Amino acid sequence: MKRTLYLKFLIAYLLFAIFGFIMVATFVSNMTLEHCRRKKAESLYAEATQIANTYAADLYNSETSLETVQQQLVALSKYMDGARIWIVNPSGRLVLDSSNVIEQGEEIKIEGFDPTATGGTYYTIGDFWGNFQESVLSVFAPITANYKVQAYVIIHTPMSQLRKTADEFLNISYLMLIVMFLLSLIILIFFTELVYIPLRRITQATEEYAAGNMNYEFSVESEDEMGYLAASLSYMAGEIARQEEDQKKFVANVSHDFRSPLTSIRGYIEAMLDGTIPQEMHEKYLGIVLNETERLTKLTNGLLTLNNLNARGMLLEKADFDINQVIRNTAASFEMTCLEKKIAIELVLTDDKMIVNADMSKIQQVLYNLLDNAIKFSHHDSVIKIETTEKRSKVFVSVKDSGIGIPKEDQKMVFERFYKSDASRGKDKKGTGLGLSIVKEIIKAHGENINCISTVGVGTEFIFSVPKAASMDSDEEGL
Ligand code: ATP
Ligand code: MG
Repeated sequence: MKRTLYLKFLIAYLLFAIFGFIMVATFVSNMTLEHCRRKKAESLYAEATQIANTYAADLYNSETSLETVQQQLVALSKYMDGARIWIVNPSGRLVLDSSNVIEQGEEIKIEGFDPTATGGTYYTIGDFWGNFQESVLSVFAPITANYKVQAYVIIHTPMSQLRKTADEFLNISYLMLIVMFLLSLIILIFFTELVYIPLRRITQATEEYAAGNMNYEFSVESEDEMGYLAASLSYMAGEIARQEEDQKKFVANVSHDFRSPLTSIRGYIEAMLDGTIPQEMHEKYLGIVLNETERLTKLTNGLLTLNNLNARGMLLEKADFDINQVIRNTAASFEMTCLEKKIAIELVLTDDKMIVNADMSKIQQVLYNLLDNAIKFSHHDSVIKIETTEKRSKVFVSVKDSGIGIPKEDQKMVFERFYKSDASRGKDKKGTGLGLSIVKEIIKAHGENINCISTVGVGTEFIFSVPKAASMDSDEEGL
């Protein structure tokens, strides 16, 4: 593509040159010759009229002799670059010739001489009724005396001389054409520098990107459309590279999280089959295998949930419901686990009922995941507090524990997929690291926010918002 563009431009450039040349060689050449001929004819006519009114008129008024006029005509002819001056009477007899003395009694006649044959113009071009070898421009001016045309002053000048003058003018035109052509090379230089080279860089970059080399770097240092295009392209490639990187990381994490339970399941089953684990211990190890499969199920479910949440335009089944009730139910479902760890859940709920407008099952999942974490990362004999507060049109729900806490540098990352802090790894082997990313997606889909406040060794608090139901708002206004 890039080669043809340059070629096309060069062809256009050459066409410009060729047409320019043809124009000068035809139109301009003709126009110049025509112009020279007209000018010459005009100036010769002025001369001829001058002669007709002065010397020739004197001759016919018998005020001067033929010899004197002859001498004057010779002088004038020299002055007019060797133009031949004739005086011819209407019958065609040559009376005087500036380049030839006509002897007494000698009669030179121009056969077929007819001054009216010029068709109204005062000059003709040709061999003048066969009197010249070459083509000449002949100008007529009548000599009138006693109200009669006595004779004609005719001045001949060779056309070859005229052409020479025209050619001199034409040469100037050619020279100008060449200068113009050279000057227009500037356009070619501009085109190369401003369009062609940047375009080549951009095309090369797109080729590299298409070949998968998303980290290919290139620059077009101009602040015009080309520079903008290059910057956009570079930005786009960067974004794709980043997404690719994310995708790779995601797949690597998924594979890793799937592999470890699978390896341990396989290890235990093999050991049981080949007798490394004795029969009586099988029950214990089958329990572990069951745990691992549970983890795999959880992981798969988590991924599926995330995938559904991520799908564009996630459909929320919004409805009005009592969030206090949902909190109570979720807390109740953890009763057994709490009993085992001797953890108490304290509920501090505003009002008896708090109607919100959201997707109930999804908000339930948020609460479940947060509470699950809180219990998982709490010490034995501690308290977890779930609190709701109203603020304008929103309800804020806080889940607060006094567990291990999250280091400051990890707090930003807890919502990322598969993220598990180092501290939690030892404590919770079953965790997938997907719980909080699911929470975040759900809250985001509702157009709400979730925040994390935590101090290592002291505890963690997650606070998220839910919109109040419209009926609740109007109730308040009514009060
Ligand atoms: P899963 O939710 O699938 O069981 P998980 O709990 O490890 O796995 P997330 O819920 O996403 O995954 O939590 C991510 C990480 O954030 C946890 O591994 C843990 O390190 C940290 N974390 C989350 N909640 C708390 C908490 N209440 N106290 C301390 N650390 C927490
Ligand atoms: Mg969790």
